[in-house]
Amino acid sequence: MRTDKQRDREVSDLNIDKQIERKRTEAATDRQQPVEKLLDWYDRNRRDLPWRRTKDPYSIWISEVMLQQTRVDQVIPYYERFLQAFPDVTSLATADLDSVLRIWEGLGYYSRARNLHRAAGIIADKYQGRFPKNFHDILALPGIGPYTAAAVASIAFNLPHSVVDGNVTRVVCRLYAIEGDIRTRKVQKEVEKQAAGLLDTRRPGDFNQAMMELGATICTPAAPVCTRCPLSDHCRALKQGEALRYPFKSPAAKRPHFRIAVAVIRDDRDRILIARRQEKAMLGGLWEFPGGKQEPGETLRQTVVRELREELGLEVGLDMNMSADVVKDVGVELGSDVVMDAGMELGADVSAGGSGGVVSDVIVESEPFETIHHAYSHFTIELNAFWAVLQAGEPKTRNGEPLRWVTAGQLAEFAFPKANRKITQTIVKQMNRTA
Ligand code: SF4
Repeated sequence: MRTDKQRDREVSDLNIDKQIERKRTEAATDRQQPVEKLLDWYDRNRRDLPWRRTKDPYSIWISEVMLQQTRVDQVIPYYERFLQAFPDVTSLATADLDSVLRIWEGLGYYSRARNLHRAAGIIADKYQGRFPKNFHDILALPGIGPYTAAAVASIAFNLPHSVVDGNVTRVVCRLYAIEGDIRTRKVQKEVEKQAAGLLDTRRPGDFNQAMMELGATICTPAAPVCTRCPLSDHCRALKQGEALRYPFKSPAAKRPHFRIAVAVIRDDRDRILIARRQEKAMLGGLWEFPGGKQEPGETLRQTVVRELREELGLEVGLDMNMSADVVKDVGVELGSDVVMDAGMELGADVSAGGSGGVVSDVIVESEPFETIHHAYSHFTIELNAFWAVLQAGEPKTRNGEPLRWVTAGQLAEFAFPKANRKITQTIVKQMNRTA
């Protein structure tokens, strides 16, 4: 027989359960409403992009990798060219890296292309060319982090993983008025938690794309169009009237600046020497002109001279007769200035070379014929290119990286970093002029 006290306790427990259930339902509704509005908005407003017309995981993977750090309008032509050249995993896996880098040239962050190539090889070997369908198998592939794995898993396979990129971070920080510096792991984790809590598990791929689309087209960094935003009724930043306050990002450290000097060396057959960068280095696998960073106290020309000696085993010396011939032959304006300049700058180097006289494997012009300014994500450069002419000797790289002698016309066949590519264009123009 239950006592009155027991009965009261049971009624009270029942009421608490009902309250919890009601709160859960309210929370689910609170979450559901903005999600439904967002998906409805996406269905009506999404941009027609080439990778949205397919569910093929390979194509979606290529697009997601290209879209990292790169604008949509810049990616589209690269995406189309890439898929034309390598339409599936097998064609990418069996291609040589040079041809992959050549198609990638100009898109930057070249490790992305190298990792795509490596990952395609793994998919071909380990998964018989079929893209893995499991989030953790996708994440284990080279160059694929949580963002790309979640994007491919959700868009191609409808798996419930939320994507957090810069656009999603901005939307979530504003939606929930998340304070704190987004450079910190603590704030990033909070954003990930909120994005995962919002995720629509029935349409995870569309939800992720809708969030990214909203950040790219409506909730933009400097001018969010809140009047057209499907989330405006739920946005805390908007309620505070302070959309632009979120997200907070502490100022980045100033990027270092480097001055670089390279030599465009020609041989007696008018061919130009190019060197391939080590695969593991930044811009690895791309081709460039030999040279390097200016050291304190050096002129740019002295940098070239030192780099040619250290990197290729070539000495820059002084040979009056040959330099005169060179002036005539290559049509570049070396003139007596160079001879004087070389003598003044390099006198000590020449005698230190141990020849007991003039050492002259290569002659280098006194001034750069081209100066290019270029910004990378973490530093900026000023790239100075000097004409040079090989007189004797055989250039060899210290670490065995490949060297090639190519004609000006062949330069277009090799993948160069952007700043070096500009130099190749000037080379072609100047050589056509003097031909
Ligand atoms: S209401 Fe404004 S600030 Fe808030 S998510 Fe929408 S566009 Fe961004």
